[in-house]
Amino acid sequence: MMAVHGVTDIGLRRTQNEDHFAYWPPEAAARERDGLLIAVADGMGGALAGEVASQLAVDAALGVWRSANGEPPTAVLRRAVEAANLAVHEESLARPDRHGMGTTLTLVVCRGDRAWVAHVGDSRAYLVRHGAIRQLTEDHSLVAQLVREQQMTPEQARVDHRRNVVTRSVGVGEHVDIDVLEVPEPLEHGDTLVVTTDGLHGLVEDDEIAGAVARGELGPACDALVDLARERGGYDNITVVMARL
Ligand code: CA
Repeated sequence: MMAVHGVTDIGLRRTQNEDHFAYWPPEAAARERDGLLIAVADGMGGALAGEVASQLAVDAALGVWRSANGEPPTAVLRRAVEAANLAVHEESLARPDRHGMGTTLTLVVCRGDRAWVAHVGDSRAYLVRHGAIRQLTEDHSLVAQLVREQQMTPEQARVDHRRNVVTRSVGVGEHVDIDVLEVPEPLEHGDTLVVTTDGLHGLVEDDEIAGAVARGELGPACDALVDLARERGGYDNITVVMARL
């Protein structure tokens, strides 16, 4: 049985919340039967376009997931991100004020004791087990790329002025390059999957996320992390979603 909880917060500096999240199904009993899909998106674009992009992407992904029957999760996830890309891209072409809008999109599926992830952008999925945290996704960001190429340390990346530059996003182009993976180890009782946008993990360290998860219930854990990001400046929209087996 999966428990799930999510919080999104506008933060302290932004006038709009361009983050969006959802999960399916909402009812715990149905989750046991069908598994759980979590979708988190962090939109970008002028005016209200970022908000539109993240909402369109999440809705399109959920639509594909809900109408899938019996396909392997990796295939459905890939199709879900492609549908999200098309929905955002077509809207950006149809409306000049939305031209160039895009979004990150991170999807996590838990079914039985298995989990899968589909991912584009610099939001993150983590697995927390027995107080230890592991990032499941790779950041598709310029600074992460520079860290991988050893041109920058992770500490420098956290404060670099280019830290918001993403190298992949949903909806900007006609095609999207998607990471899809199965979490190699079976889930155990108490394992917690955590999905965050950069307004959270840009201000809160991984071990602080693990600490909040280890201390107790999902609702207070999410609230504590959002409060921490706000205390540290809250310069961006802040989103965290947790699911626990
Ligand atoms: Ca953000």
